Amino acid sequence: MLDCVVVGGGPAGLTAAIYLARFHLDVRVVDAGNSRAATIPMTRNHAGFPDGIAGADLLDRMRTQARHYGAALVRAEVAGLEASVDGLLVSVGDEIIAARSVLLATGVVNRRPPMPDDLHATALARGLLRYCPICDGYEVTDRRVGVLGTGGHGTREAVFLRGYTADVTLIAPGGQHDLAPGERALLAQSGVAMIDGPATDFAIHGDAIGVRTPGHDWRFDSLYPALGSDINSALAAGLGAARSDEGCLIVDAHQRTNVARLYAAGDVVKGLDQISHAMGEGGVAATTIRNDLASERALLRAAPPG
Ligand SMILES: Cc1cc2nc3c(=O)[nH]c(=O)nc-3n(C[C@H](O)[C@H](O)[C@H](O)COP(=O)(O)OP(=O)(O)OC[C@H]3O[C@@H](n4cnc5c(N)ncnc54)[C@H](O)[C@@H]3O)c2cc1C
Repeated sequence: MLDCVVVGGGPAGLTAAIYLARFHLDVRVVDAGNSRAATIPMTRNHAGFPDGIAGADLLDRMRTQARHYGAALVRAEVAGLEASVDGLLVSVGDEIIAARSVLLATGVVNRRPPMPDDLHATALARGLLRYCPICDGYEVTDRRVGVLGTGGHGTREAVFLRGYTADVTLIAPGGQHDLAPGERALLAQSGVAMIDGPATDFAIHGDAIGVRTPGHDWRFDSLYPALGSDINSALAAGLGAARSDEGCLIVDAHQRTNVARLYAAGDVVKGLDQISHAMGEGGVAATTIRNDLASERALLRAAPPG
């Protein structure tokens, strides 16, 4: 029986794996390979990398570090979780892995604008499409910025981005804006242009990203989709784990869910969706798991032979 199966190999899961392996515990990371961090062309707000680091490089370094201390990393998708007498059973393909604990670090998936995958990938790599104003709002300082969204989410994101540039346009994705009077007033007061959709014909034009709305072609230096996210918390929900209205897992201050032996960390948990936060929660979760396991059976190192 493994001490811990970590589901998800992004910054949260890999940080936990490094800690758990260094606690001399048996840990296996099962990762489907779609970390949001892997899509970051260059993160510049992650502390310790003054010239920035590509998300894929950061993950490579973390995988190397986890393996170095003995964590096993497997590329696969976990299909189900089940409670057993003394642990949890994790379904991966035809295999059922028995574990004393499971850490869910499964992240979220951003909802995308309707555009072909190759256009999306190119626009993301070039910073024409951006998903995280907290991460890279600095990079659009004094640039032309479009925000694709409406309602409370679109309003918050557009007003946040006004802190970086005076040129912010909020475009309703589907048709007319759906804005409460207070939201409309806040946007007007903040100098955000409000344009009804539908938004169509996304395309790259030289150094700009283009969007069409009825009667107008827009060009932006960057476009931020503010369309929400889908939370990868279904595995935990199947076990009865508590979730927020959006579907984020609710944990205590030590990353325990309300299900025995099930822990969660990173974007899948309600909180700030950032690498540093995911890493912090991964470290807390791993330490909690170690101490909870030690309360069941003493984790005492045997003396070396001879
Ligand atoms: C374009 C972009 C730019 C960003 N820039 C920054 C930045 O500059 N700075 C910053 O701090 N943050 C940035 N972020 C946010 C950052 O990427 C996330 O906060 C971070 O990746 C969260 O880590 P995580 O481990 O919780 O989830 P993720 O990194 O998303 O990893 C979750 C992993 O779980 C796997 N998984 C899900 N379900 C299963 C399953 N059933 N079985 C097996 N595996 C599963 C997924 O495939 C994935 O590999 C950015 C995000 C995006 C999209």
